[in-house]
Amino acid sequence: MSVSTPTNTSPDAATIAVVRSVDELRQWVAGQRAEGAGIGLVPTMGALHEGHLSLVELAACDGYAVVMSIFVNPTQFGPSEDFDAYPRDEARDLELAEASGVACVFAPPPSEIYPEGFSTNISISGPSGGLEGAARPSHFDGVATVVAKLLLAVRPDRAVFGAKDAQQLAVIRRLVTDLHLDDLDLVEAPTIREADGLAMSSRNRYLGDEDRRAALALSRGLFAATALADAGETRASALVGAARNELDLEPRCDVEYVALVDAEHFTSIDRLTTRSARLCMAARVGPARLIDNVPLTASP
Ligand code: AMP
Repeated sequence: MSVSTPTNTSPDAATIAVVRSVDELRQWVAGQRAEGAGIGLVPTMGALHEGHLSLVELAACDGYAVVMSIFVNPTQFGPSEDFDAYPRDEARDLELAEASGVACVFAPPPSEIYPEGFSTNISISGPSGGLEGAARPSHFDGVATVVAKLLLAVRPDRAVFGAKDAQQLAVIRRLVTDLHLDDLDLVEAPTIREADGLAMSSRNRYLGDEDRRAALALSRGLFAATALADAGETRASALVGAARNELDLEPRCDVEYVALVDAEHFTSIDRLTTRSARLCMAARVGPARLIDNVPLTASP
């Protein structure tokens, strides 16, 4: 792999540009715009896996030049969470990003995003109230603030986010609507899973063999509920119960929540209807706190 400086702005360049500052990023984007390229943005915290790379593929549609941000955002971690332990491997990430077609990686130091005196906080109510928002106070403030900064720094035509973090996506949709970012195409990417069902996540690296096996209870629970919904079940109590049952059978899983919510508002619902819903769960398995979800609607 070769890593160029941001002066390498040709859209045909075989090398990936790595930029550390918003100024360099804007110069790089301006170069691409001058060549007539559309811009796709994929925000990540690095420790890349195939889930992230599937977002790149969607961002690159129509020949768009893809900017990937790699930034472990301190403000979205609580004081007792895993900010320090979060996996970081920039050399590997750059290789994977380049191989997947990313044209530019924006990997700023924290001081570039949060310089001294930084005082802005974007707080979105509505969909950020329950589930992850209740379990991780101020998490979605951190997410919304950094995503708004990335969108304003890059001004992409398209930004891609994973359904794996369905509540985060609902919060970002709200941000985009409320701030009139009308020209932005916000794309939802489906969750990529390992062959055995485990949703890919950077935090899966925390799992030892036994915990890795135990973590399959999450996807098993979601698949059990999906099968029930496909068979015509619409009651939240039955769908949540089927998922929860799989988690409860696994002693290494410490369940935080299982909930059926409206996919836009992220408030609990009693029944599936034709509106999009999500069955969401969070559980601790050994050292890892894992989240997963599936989309559900009433079968016709
Ligand atoms: P993260 O690096 O965990 O902040 O994730 C960056 C982006 O990748 C977010 O939009 C996530 O929703 C998305 N993502 C994470 N895991 C997956 C997955 N297994 N499948 C699809 N997208 C994912």
